[in-house]
Amino acid sequence: METRPSDLPATLLPTPLRIVELDRLGDEIAELSAHLEAATARLLDRIREFDARGGWNTGFRSCAAWLSWRVGLAPGAAREHVRVARALGTLPALAEALGRGELSYAKVRALTRVATPETEARLLAVGRAGTAHHVERIVRGWRRVDRQAEAREAARQHAGRALHVYQDEDGTVVLRGRLTPEVGTLRLRALEAARETLYQRRRATEPAQEVPPRPQQQADALALLAEAALHHELDPGAPGERYQVVVRVDAAVLADSDQPGQSVLEDGPRVPAGTSQRLACDASLVVMRHDEDGRVVEVGARTRTIPPALRRALQHRDRGCRFPGCNVRVGEGHHVRHWAQGGPTTLSNLAVLCRRHHRAVHEESYQIERLPDGALQFRRPDGRLLPDVPAPAAVPADPEGALRARHAAQGLRLHPRTACPGWLGERLDVGWAIGLLHPLATRGPMTFVRSASEAPFLAEPR
Ligand SMILES: [Zn+2]
Ligand SMILES: [Zn+2]
Repeated sequence: METRPSDLPATLLPTPLRIVELDRLGDEIAELSAHLEAATARLLDRIREFDARGGWNTGFRSCAAWLSWRVGLAPGAAREHVRVARALGTLPALAEALGRGELSYAKVRALTRVATPETEARLLAVGRAGTAHHVERIVRGWRRVDRQAEAREAARQHAGRALHVYQDEDGTVVLRGRLTPEVGTLRLRALEAARETLYQRRRATEPAQEVPPRPQQQADALALLAEAALHHELDPGAPGERYQVVVRVDAAVLADSDQPGQSVLEDGPRVPAGTSQRLACDASLVVMRHDEDGRVVEVGARTRTIPPALRRALQHRDRGCRFPGCNVRVGEGHHVRHWAQGGPTTLSNLAVLCRRHHRAVHEESYQIERLPDGALQFRRPDGRLLPDVPAPAAVPADPEGALRARHAAQGLRLHPRTACPGWLGERLDVGWAIGLLHPLATRGPMTFVRSASEAPFLAEPR
């Protein structure tokens, strides 16, 4: 509406005109914001699909890394977009409220930290009624209750741990017990490893022997675990030793991955030649020479492939992974031309790659090349160039008009009050509200209300 001076009161002070103008500007901001929130819902839908279908998996570590590279979102914001997009996949009511511009992205982002399909309706009511600040405070309180409930559950499980061992009349021993999840996982893994070792060994020595049923295998595996534990005097070992991986690799394989030869994890399966080359790229090396019968005839001293001083210079130059779009700070030194193929261990032949991208180069056929000017060039497995900077996106000449037209076509009628909360200025009592809303809250006036979702949770109890 056009505001002419004749519309104004007769006092003719200059300020009312400005107030009307500024009010209109404020309305425009609120309405355009509702359009942007609604468009954000569409954006998150697409991110969810792109993420689920692995569209980012073209050398990027994650959907968030791709978003950061392609769209220019800060890493933290990119991670949040992906998290919220995934969460909204199971929270349709929150997704719809954002899509109608009724709930801001900031509120949805906070609510998706705690919402589940069971609690979504209550939390949507919180989002509708409260300001963004209220929502943040409710979510913080909600998480506190979640954490307390989790801690109670963990304490209950810990207190319930037990292993009953007793001898039956015929002398056999019967076991019955309950373990906490992490100890249970450890036990399962140990049992599985022992079972594998036993039956691999048996298959090798007596291949005709039939494999017993699984319960019997488990019993044999438990015996092996007990023997091994007693043999090592119940010493779990130093952390470094426990996780050390030994790769045996033929020199020919290291030099050329097409060479036939052996590349095996100690006491374990064969690994691809690319893997052993990657591990040798930046590793502690102990070179052992074998005779024809496989006996070790010479053992060299342990050396680092890349000496510490050179590594410091490399880290200082590259400051992290050099793969396009990757900002991971810690990485491994990669020989652009592998040392086993005669590539020198010099700054010009080295590049820092994070673990994920080191794997991409050695084992997933991504190519890396150093150009004469010293710049690194990356290519996808199909040979296409992977640019450091993505091609710019096409933007319509009038983005706001395009957005409005699209929403009009979708039947969305957005106005300055679309996203206004229902709050009337009451003081928020977070503890009371959480007690009312959270299904696991231990205190709270649950008995005073008919239904938590329609309760006046932003008012204090009377
Ligand atoms: Zn490498
Ligand atoms: Zn990387």
